[in-house]
Amino acid sequence: MNHTEISYEVRRLELKHSWNLSRGSWDFKENVIVRLTRDGISGWGEAAPNSRYDETPESTVAVMEKAAEVLADFHPAEYVRFGEAIQQLGDGQTAAKAALDMALMDWVGKSFKSPLHRFWGLSAAETPITTLTIGIDTPEVIREKVNEAKDFPILKIKLGSQDDREIIAAVRAVTDKPLCVDANEGWKDRETALRNIEWLAGENVVFVEQPMPAAMLDDIAWVRQRASLPLIADESVKQGSEIPQLAAAFDGINIKVMKAGGLQEALRMIWMAKTLGLKVMLGCMVETSLGISAAAALSPLVDYADLDGHLLIKNDPYRGIAIDAGKIVLNDMFGVGVVER
Ligand SMILES: [Mg+2]
Repeated sequence: MNHTEISYEVRRLELKHSWNLSRGSWDFKENVIVRLTRDGISGWGEAAPNSRYDETPESTVAVMEKAAEVLADFHPAEYVRFGEAIQQLGDGQTAAKAALDMALMDWVGKSFKSPLHRFWGLSAAETPITTLTIGIDTPEVIREKVNEAKDFPILKIKLGSQDDREIIAAVRAVTDKPLCVDANEGWKDRETALRNIEWLAGENVVFVEQPMPAAMLDDIAWVRQRASLPLIADESVKQGSEIPQLAAAFDGINIKVMKAGGLQEALRMIWMAKTLGLKVMLGCMVETSLGISAAAALSPLVDYADLDGHLLIKNDPYRGIAIDAGKIVLNDMFGVGVVER
């Protein structure tokens, strides 16, 4: 076979708890798994389509169909050129591009016989602690989830609804651990955002992620000048080209492989953010151990990690990284480092 073969399937992932954010609620997730084969080696990738960015399983599959044609003559050993071809498949649809680039880098690691973190010259000893995310829920369920998360030294709490005070009170009824807060664009004016952040500063909170809608950059900059907690951009940033304009409004950025459109772009973004003096967080969507293990290979480079998406899934089809008392534990398998269960 002297061409690159790309195949894909949609996987239905059942969630342990329904996933509630300030913008909606879900009981299951449909991700797309991609396989890239050349010279007898197969690389695996995962797309977690996000409705926030106009992505669906169907729109992801449409990109895969095009990729199977367009990328057939590219050789994955030339992964930089191959990666550029992935980015040129069309506008947006970064989850689909992320899956292709992940499969590409998994192939590269397997072909070069190296775990990805070692391929990039990173030390497995330097992985960060990951937070475990507690979604929006009733005080009773929140107390239950916080108790279940007893092995994690830092928790991430989703706010941005009408129940912010009740949620924090429920968490604080059972633990005094440090918290990261994610408002998911839920606070709609700058006075509300500032008032909430100042309240959270007294609740042992480390930082606040995306306090206001992505487009309200000037208001977020106003809040940042007055707030006593660092602000981290999530919905305000997808790819590297957007980072310079954010530097005045945020103290750090949440890089996700799915938003970036791949591991190669995520790696470039990490360096760009560091160059601009921004803190770097590595986040995820609801993803299996495949997507999470791929992101974790970059984690020795970052300040904060939120790589818990696979822990939210009941029927994870893969086994990859481990988490030990919150610390990310990489393995020695070549490429992304996952096997099918
Ligand atoms: Mg977020």
